[in-house]
Parts: sequence; C-alpha cells; structure tokens
Amino acid sequence: MSEASKKTLLLIGGGHAHVELLRQLAIEPKPQYDIALFDPSPSVWFSAMLPGVIAGHYEASAAKINLWALCQRARVRFIQAAVNEVIADLQRVKVSNGETHYFDYLSLDIGSVSRPIPSAPGAYIVPVKPIEPLLNAITEREAIRSSSLKVSVVGGGASAVEVALALAARWKDAPEKKIVLVTEGELLSQFPSRARAAALTACARLGVGVQEHMGVENIEPTRLRLSGGKQLESQITILATGSAPPELLSRINVQLADDGCISINSGLQSRSHKNIFAAGDCATNPKLNVPKSGVYAVRQGPILATNLMAMMRGKSLESYEHDERALALISLGEKRAIGTRSGWCFSGSLMWKLKNRIDRKWMADYAFVSGND
Ligand SMILES: Cc1cc2nc3c(=O)[nH]c(=O)nc-3n(C[C@H](O)[C@H](O)[C@H](O)COP(=O)(O)OP(=O)(O)OC[C@H]3O[C@@H](n4cnc5c(N)ncnc54)[C@H](O)[C@@H]3O)c2cc1C
Repeated sequence: MSEASKKTLLLIGGGHAHVELLRQLAIEPKPQYDIALFDPSPSVWFSAMLPGVIAGHYEASAAKINLWALCQRARVRFIQAAVNEVIADLQRVKVSNGETHYFDYLSLDIGSVSRPIPSAPGAYIVPVKPIEPLLNAITEREAIRSSSLKVSVVGGGASAVEVALALAARWKDAPEKKIVLVTEGELLSQFPSRARAAALTACARLGVGVQEHMGVENIEPTRLRLSGGKQLESQITILATGSAPPELLSRINVQLADDGCISINSGLQSRSHKNIFAAGDCATNPKLNVPKSGVYAVRQGPILATNLMAMMRGKSLESYEHDERALALISLGEKRAIGTRSGWCFSGSLMWKLKNRIDRKWMADYAFVSGND
C-alpha cells in the first residue's frame, strides 16, 4: 500500500485511554495506517500518583508516562503541539504550530480543566490540572523559607482532599504554612459517610482546616470572599473544583452534551460524526453516568483501541459497559488511604499499600512497552 493511500488516524491528547491504545500499538504496530498523536507535552502524568508526588512519596519521573517513547515503539508520529481547532466536516485539525492536518479518523482524549471561579486582578490561582504549574507554585513558595503562607484548596471531592492532605504531609515540619479546604457542600459527599469521617480525621491529624458549606464567590489577592459575607485569608488558591470542558471543545463543530463535553454513544463514537471518537474526561455519554475520573478513562482505553481499529477495517463496534462499582482509592497525605466500593469503606495504611501496588503496576506496564523502565 502506498503512503498516500494509507488511512490517517489522528489522536488528540495523550490521556489515559490513548495511552492504552499506544501500549497496544507498541506491542503490535499497524504500519498499514498513518497514526499521529498531538500533545503539547512529551509526557503525561498518571493522575492517581500526583498526590504522592506532592507529598514526596514518589519522584515526578515515577508518575509520568513518556508519550514520545511510547509513540516511537508504537510507530505513531508524535507531534508536540496542541490542537487549537477541529473542523469536523472538512476532516481537518488546526495545530498550535500553524499546521493544518487532514484525518480520516479522529480520536480525542484531552482531559478536563478545573471549573473557574470569579477572581480579582492579582489573585494567585492555581488549578489542580494541569499539574506542572501547581508543582512549580509549590516549589517556588518553598524557596521563601521563613515567610508564612496561607493556602486554600477549593473543592470537596477526592482530588481536593488528596491535594490538601498531600501538601500538609509535605509541609509537616513547616507550621508557618497553613492549609484550609473550602467547599460549598460537605467533603467527599459522593462517597459513603465513613469516607468523609476518615478524611476529617486525617485533616485534623495533619492540621488542615476544613470549611464546609462555604461557597467561594470571589478570589482576591489576599483573601477569599465566601457566601454569607464571610472572608478567609488566602495567598494561594488551588482550584480543585470539579471538571469543566477544555478550551478546544469550544472550537469543535461536533455535537456536545449538556456539560459541554463531546457527546458519545456506547461505542465511544461521536453522536454527530461517525469517524470521530472521544474518551476520558472530555467525553460524555448522556445515557450513562460515568464520573470524570482516571479510572474510567483507563477502562475505556481497550474499547477505544478495539473500536478505532474496527472502524478503520469497516467492522462493527463494541460497547463500553459501565461498571459503577469501581474501587475508589483516595490518598490521605501520609502513607494512608481510603478504599471504598459499593458502599463499603476502609481506611489506613493497608489501603495505601494496595493503592501503591495498583498504581505502580499500572505505570510499570507502560514503562515496559515504551522501553522507559
Ligand atoms: C490531584 C488529582 C488526583 C487525582 N487522582 C485520581 C485518582 O486517584 N484516580 C482517578 O481515577 N482519577 C484521579 N484524578 C482524576 C484524573 O486526573 C482525571 O479524571 C484523568 O486524568 C482524566 O484522564 P483523561 O484520559 O481524560 O485525560 P488526561 O489524563 O488529563 O490527559 C489529557 C492529555 O491531553 C492533552 N491535551 C489537552 N488539551 C490538548 C489539546 N488541545 N491538544 C493536544 N493535547 C491536549 C494534555 O496535555 C494531556 O496530556 C485525579 C485528579 C487530580 C487533579
């Protein structure tokens, strides 16, 4: 088959589901297709290990997958650039380096961003994703040793709890650094009440303040303005406010779901464009209640890989079967974690050991195929 007659599959974003596709291609490359991956970064963080990186349990390199190396093995072209626009009807993408690329098939796995909160000029706000600016903000502030620091983490879900407690574990011997969790509801309201109790105990142990039922209305340079006219002193505000669609989804002419993400069917295929697929946080199947979480992006990976190959060969697609009983593991700063599934909940160091084993095993699988072990 000549180069020109090869079908072109473009992958946007090296998220968890695309990483699985790349892993499969690294084991069994498909030189009959022209496949390219676009990502502004040559590596992607494995989100489950981020809190451990912040707390100092892992080196950054232990929690990053080398996309470039994986692409080399998979015979996929790696283009280090963000996609700025998708013109679905013309089968073209526009890229941050000024290029325009044609596709026969397209797949998006670009994650999500933190939901914004109104702010005043000069407010120091760091979203939890992407992680690099958060890690930079942390290390820059650490360089100023003697000064006191008030950090608020806004959000009440798993990532807010994990980031606040990881920071507290990192700064255990720096009492001048104060951390407070601020949430409009209750901590971990999506989990069994024992999970909330375990998180509150961990916060008390590590000195993390907790402000529940406090909506943040505005972020100012030295304080948060809260609902009910209250204020809270804060120099750095970390946003762990749940997921919102990334900017690219405002420049893509495919059908979107009510939450602004790409509307997909059970085969992870766009409901408006049959040659476009999406998975992970940036995709929503309106008929399934799939949380925006790395666990589910990972689980969609094998189906996405199967369906992209099936589509290119003209075969029928498989369905992603959603299982709501996935084990959720939430780290508690020190080497302790909450494990919860189908209503049961345990916490302590055994859960952390389990999480550590699962996460390291997952990373090892990708490091091995990319030759990065
Ligand atoms: C601190 C923290 C801890 C977490 N812990 C867990 C956990 O323990 N378990 C869990 O299940 N979930 C966890 N999550 C949630 C998890 O991070 C996300 O749900 C998960 O990363 C989503 O995966 P994804 O495949 O959708 O995309 P991501 O893994 O976010 O990857 C998206 C990729 O797309 C790239 N990209 C973005 N825009 C573009 C563009 N325009 N062009 C090209 N490339 C682009 C990015 O550079 C990135 O590489 C955590 C989140 C945070 C913040």
